[in-house]
Amino acid sequence: MAQASVAKFLLSARAVEQFPRPLDFEAAFFGRSNVGKSSLLNTYTGVSKLARVSGTPGCTREINFFLIDNKYYLVDLPGYGYARYSKDEQQRWAELINEYISLRASRILGVVILDIRRGLTDLDVMLLDILKSHDVNYIIVATKIDKLKTNELRAATLLLKSQIKSAGFDGDIIRFSSVTGEGKKELYNNITKKYQHYKELQKEKTDGVFVDE
Ligand code: GDP
Repeated sequence: MAQASVAKFLLSARAVEQFPRPLDFEAAFFGRSNVGKSSLLNTYTGVSKLARVSGTPGCTREINFFLIDNKYYLVDLPGYGYARYSKDEQQRWAELINEYISLRASRILGVVILDIRRGLTDLDVMLLDILKSHDVNYIIVATKIDKLKTNELRAATLLLKSQIKSAGFDGDIIRFSSVTGEGKKELYNNITKKYQHYKELQKEKTDGVFVDE
């Protein structure tokens, strides 16, 4: 199966008290505003209009929770770096994201979305720093690859890899396009594999294998 079969919208949360109860696994999607996150989520789930694809970026301030296949959450975090955000709004964004990550760290797989043409920006580095400081696993998705020719894509991928490495991070890079659907299967398989792995880890914990933790 190439994509999640059932995606159900659960709720939008503006504060911690509104978060749904934690599950063993949550795939949390992060990215600068306008990076293509909504398009990716729609393509990934096969549900068009699951997340708003917006001509006016920056309008989502909540964390949206979806239930996938009745098994795990897909979490759509508000996009960061929208130029017209005030300092206060940026601050609130950072607080909400920090709270979400620190409360659920062991359950989260971060899916960090970058625009293949823009590479790694300072704000992406800030996000990766937050994830790393909480020991959250992550994968990187480079999107809008349909906008580049084959040789440009090769060069951009190499550049991105070296940027990620020299900023002190690593992790798989999945190349993706919401226009052609390329990378969808790879992303789905990657997330499904991580879901299985997290389930096993949680089971070991509740079975008392790691009693002294
Ligand atoms: P968000 O703000 O991160 O949710 O970004 P959106 O999904 O709203 O996309 C921002 C703009 O980029 C829209 O005009 C989309 O149509 C366009 N876009 C998103 N993903 C792709 C892609 O993979 N390829 C191309 N060519 N355009 C894309």
